[in-house]
Amino acid sequence: MTQDTLTSLFTVVSDHILNVMYFDFSRYAIAAGTMFGVLVIFRAWAENRRIQERRAQRKDYAREIFSSFRTVFFFGITTLATLGLREAGIIRFELNEFPLWLAIFQAAIMILVHDTYFYWSHRAMHSKRLFRATHLHHHKSRVPTPFTAYSFSIWEAIIEAAYVPLFLLATSLMGFAYTGLAILIFIWVQISRNVMQHAGVEIHPAGWVDTKWLDWISTTTHHDLHHSGGNHNFGFYFTWWDRWMGTEHPQYKERFRAVAKPIWQRGEPVPAGSASAP
Ligand SMILES: [Zn+2]
Ligand SMILES: [Zn+2]
Repeated sequence: MTQDTLTSLFTVVSDHILNVMYFDFSRYAIAAGTMFGVLVIFRAWAENRRIQERRAQRKDYAREIFSSFRTVFFFGITTLATLGLREAGIIRFELNEFPLWLAIFQAAIMILVHDTYFYWSHRAMHSKRLFRATHLHHHKSRVPTPFTAYSFSIWEAIIEAAYVPLFLLATSLMGFAYTGLAILIFIWVQISRNVMQHAGVEIHPAGWVDTKWLDWISTTTHHDLHHSGGNHNFGFYFTWWDRWMGTEHPQYKERFRAVAKPIWQRGEPVPAGSASAP
């Protein structure tokens, strides 16, 4: 291999790494930063919907943001590996134009399968054998913040990042061509739901758990109870697995109703400056 070939190879790889790292960092920064900004701008509303009395400290934010950089790095490496496996013809996904309905349908399948992957890998990481090495770091955040979304140990970051290439490997082996747009929709839904689950403030409207049309979708209180307790609510997008396996927090719905209840229905004096009742 000539010096020129080596130089151009190095240039291509380094360009790719920067693009991938930038892409993976920016979606985390946009999602977590937007959620944090919303909670600051609508402070009065957010204070009334805080799930825990405790508050995250400055050192918690620092730890979460620092470890999120590390997570972004491992997500970036995994994205590079996925692209490399595609170049090698092991993983198939197409960047050509696909109908939007097909991309949305494929993304929905990817989300459903991810919910199962998350529930079971999460329960495995809670086992005595694995907890310390994999998941303890994430649980240092007793009071989640939007920045907890990527606050993982190295091992947990690898487990979380491995989902996309494993899923694409499985679909490729089955002969399905996934579209790049479906993967893009999936990763944006994933990070958006992730920061919503860690907001520390219930952002889903009152009545969510009392209608069968929405109750199957997880809320912020659902995952927050996992952080404050640790023995219940292992699911991510949906409540199905926790209900099937009997791991849902017994007071989940009561806690949600108490947090999401409009302030004018709580029988407490309405603090000055808060939003007026309709
Ligand atoms: Zn956990
Ligand atoms: Zn969490």
